[in-house]
Amino acid sequence: MKGTISFSCDACGRSIRTPASYAGKTARCPGCRSSIRAPLADEPAPPAAPEPVARRTAGGDPTFGGFVLMAGAVLWFVVGLSAGKVYFYPPILFVVGLSSFLRGSQGGGRRVPASS
Ligand SMILES: [Zn+2]
Repeated sequence: MKGTISFSCDACGRSIRTPASYAGKTARCPGCRSSIRAPLADEPAPPAAPEPVARRTAGGDPTFGGFVLMAGAVLWFVVGLSAGKVYFYPPILFVVGLSSFLRGSQGGGRRVPASS
């Protein structure tokens, strides 16, 4: 609605609506009585921070991460075998690494051209 500005109190978060004539003036919050400044009516809303289009994985390249997982699983399994033990966890780790590897090789390196 035009003629009113709505904002929220910095101190208590209460949403306040005030006539546009109060824009830029200091008033008192009806909730917590702290002095607050009403924003200018035609002050444009601050643009949201641009989100990075391509979100990079924190651990780096998923293809590489998957490869490391698979290599580690194979190494673990071989070391276990040479010690006369068969671990059941390395195959699971291998599958996890494989799926990460495939996911990384399918979608990770793809670059979407900017269309306008
Ligand atoms: Zn308040």
